[in-house]
Amino acid sequence: LNVINKDKKVIKKYEYGKDFKECTYGASSSGKAAGNAEFFDSLYSSSQIKSNSPIIITKKAPFGENKDSYDFDLSLKNAGVKALIYSWQESNFRFRSPYKNQEFKDDGIIKIITSNSICEEIKKYINEGNILEVSSPVQVKSTAAKNVIAKIEGKNPSLPPLVLSAHFDHVGFDADGIIYPGAFDNASGTGFLLECARILKDESPERTIIFAAFNGEEEGLIGSKYFVENPPVSLKDAECINFDMVGSKSDIPLTVLSDKGSESFTSDVSKLLRSNSIENETLYEANSDHASFCENHINAVTFIHNDPMKIHTPEDNIDNISEEQIEKTYNALSTYLSSRNIGNTPVAARITYETSNNNTLISIIIIVLASSSVIYIYRKKIKKTV
Ligand SMILES: [Zn+2]
Repeated sequence: LNVINKDKKVIKKYEYGKDFKECTYGASSSGKAAGNAEFFDSLYSSSQIKSNSPIIITKKAPFGENKDSYDFDLSLKNAGVKALIYSWQESNFRFRSPYKNQEFKDDGIIKIITSNSICEEIKKYINEGNILEVSSPVQVKSTAAKNVIAKIEGKNPSLPPLVLSAHFDHVGFDADGIIYPGAFDNASGTGFLLECARILKDESPERTIIFAAFNGEEEGLIGSKYFVENPPVSLKDAECINFDMVGSKSDIPLTVLSDKGSESFTSDVSKLLRSNSIENETLYEANSDHASFCENHINAVTFIHNDPMKIHTPEDNIDNISEEQIEKTYNALSTYLSSRNIGNTPVAARITYETSNNNTLISIIIIVLASSSVIYIYRKKIKKTV
């Protein structure tokens, strides 16, 4: 996003990720636009547009960052608009919205989200006779993705299975190539699931246990939806415990998150945990993979530390993960498993940690030890020489 003067010189360059980002919702297209811009304090209808400027800038648009803007975007396009710059949520332009509900159109408009103060600043620039140049890096590609599923065969095939699951996809990287690590959302849940599989692998449970790592959650729960509609074993009367964001460093209790249809199961799980002194809250929202199960009348909850502060940003890294909170989540799961006669000893007593931070710490210690012994040897030599 640049401001260009009459001599075609760039007089102001706005920084992607710091000053603005692309909006991927509605009729959002990739591309470039340059030319005059018309400014609005509030734009609610394409009939307000009087100029034939290809770029529209507004401090207030009828839609923030959601799919409902689709028809509005197309009405702007029909009025000759090539790019819309608008103000929405100034806080963090590195925040990636989930890709679900994204409706990419080759023939839409460029959509840029920025802050109120930058809208005001650009207004000044255009009033001084400058023009704008704007581009959007939005790209949509179709690809095949896979879930990763494992199971421990139960001794009693007439019992319904237990599904333990977590999504292992995330939002990838942005147009600057900055990686969004997704440590909390949802490497935490994926690691948790792998650890469950490691702990339970030697059990010979009555019921079948399925370990499901789902893909495409951020694109709209696609992997879990496919799994529920094409299950490897019958899911009749099955129960699912999903893990999405476990181990927040914030001092918050576990949330037992579910959706319509699983209310009594959710309340049973919540009460069970509470009666074992495990503090928890319940919440009903269709925003993680439990929803695919609930929609198909299968009891499901997500164990989640509901702390959205750093998710979908480059700051979602391992520094924000609390081992203590993960342990509490294991206690909750272990309590549930015991109630289903799975697991003989408390799971929490058997977990191990191996994080990249620890490895770094160990390497640092080794380096420090190595260099201090070198210094020590060196000193000895000096001593000898002296
Ligand atoms: Zn997630």
